[in-house]
Amino acid sequence: RGIPRFRMTVRSSVVSVAPILTKLQKECATPLPVLRHVADAMTADMRAGLVADGGSDLQMILSYVDSLPTGNEKGLFYALDLGGTNFRVLRVQLGGKDERVVATEFDQVSIPQELMFGTSEELFDFIASGLAKFAKKEGGKYHLPRGRKREIGFTFSFPVKQTSVDSGILIKWTKGFAVSGTAGKDVVACLNEAMQRQGLDMQVSALVNDTVGTLAGARYWDDDVMVAVILGTGTNACYVECVDAIPKLKGHNSTSGRTIINTEWGAFSNGLPLTQFDREMDAESINPGEQIFEKTISGMYLGEIVRRVLVKTAEAGDLFGESVPEKLSTPFVLRTPDICAMQQDNSQDLVDVESILYDVVGLKSNLNARKIVLEVCDTIVKRGGRLAGAGIVGILQKMEEESKGLIYGKRTVVAMDGGLYEHFSQYRRYLQDAVTELLGSEISKNVVIEHTKDGSGIGAALLAASNSKYEHDF
Ligand code: BGC
Ligand code: MG
Repeated sequence: RGIPRFRMTVRSSVVSVAPILTKLQKECATPLPVLRHVADAMTADMRAGLVADGGSDLQMILSYVDSLPTGNEKGLFYALDLGGTNFRVLRVQLGGKDERVVATEFDQVSIPQELMFGTSEELFDFIASGLAKFAKKEGGKYHLPRGRKREIGFTFSFPVKQTSVDSGILIKWTKGFAVSGTAGKDVVACLNEAMQRQGLDMQVSALVNDTVGTLAGARYWDDDVMVAVILGTGTNACYVECVDAIPKLKGHNSTSGRTIINTEWGAFSNGLPLTQFDREMDAESINPGEQIFEKTISGMYLGEIVRRVLVKTAEAGDLFGESVPEKLSTPFVLRTPDICAMQQDNSQDLVDVESILYDVVGLKSNLNARKIVLEVCDTIVKRGGRLAGAGIVGILQKMEEESKGLIYGKRTVVAMDGGLYEHFSQYRRYLQDAVTELLGSEISKNVVIEHTKDGSGIGAALLAASNSKYEHDF
């Protein structure tokens, strides 16, 4: 007796919901020609961004990091890492070629929501006091030579116009941060002032983007690492570029002939397959018109895009009953980890999907509705993963152009970090598929995408070591 009733539900909901789903899938599709177009546009935007600042969506920021860790780095170094979600402090003792990383200790806290909307002083006081607490725990373990300050590698995961390896001006906040009074300021100076307020006598020797830290951290163990990508709350990529290929680089001498470029690819926007949901999310965001690639592929936004589709679906039909629950109308309640958990539900009745829909967004669902929700999730996750893959190929293409065969012809490692990549296996698979489709199976065998967990902290410490203010190791 239950069966006919169930069928009725299926038929009526399919009638009203199907066009929304079909349209979504069509607009989000990323067949090979779309991927190729995105990869080529990425390459072209990189080139234009290297000619002049403001030459394209991509800022192509000079990192002033011209040499990557060799393994010989020695001494005690600190690292600070301000990301999108967490703040970490790290202490590393480097032992040189044979001993490498002798000891590491770290503390991590999630960034309190109110600090993301507070003042610059509040945020930097929070960072400096975290550092002060952590530094105290060092106890009497390490002795620095007289007159020598403890040195910090500062990983700052926002777009910064570097003015040297240890200074740089915040261009803008991203990832939902709206801290007042930092844009246009030197973030190292902000940190120094906050350290002074804490009575903390340490100094920043390297200011790096998280991608640059990740590249350095991964290169410490593997000489073939040429690119680093972050796929977490936000997204970005950096890579090793030839100095000769950077027209806007004037008067900057690099002995190695190479330097690391922070692409800030989150701002990319050319030729992306976008929908009404993306446009509305962007328009209502705190940075409309900015970070479009980031808003399409990164962890902060995937859940929110799905939520917006579900609102429309709920309004359109009787898929979830009569009314749209209030919870579902709250921006950002549905998080990317929820999407991931739903996609991992292998049970026949999709019981996890059912409980997540009910607990998180207040939706009562039958099996058919749950299946439709999973299709929506898959559509958004697939688009994100495949576009991220196209972005990576865009970078590899640029490097191949410059080095004439030196990239595709040998093992090349893309160091990857960020919670989205780390925890979301389906996303990872879509990303890899796109890379393989674009490069072909022969070349893509040489391209190794490798997860380097928390590489950016150690990487920043390594860069503090190689850019140390003092002449000798200790
Ligand atoms: C920032 C980048 C950062 C990336 C990953 C983006 O929002 O603009 O600087 O590397 O997030 O954390
Ligand atoms: Mg991070």
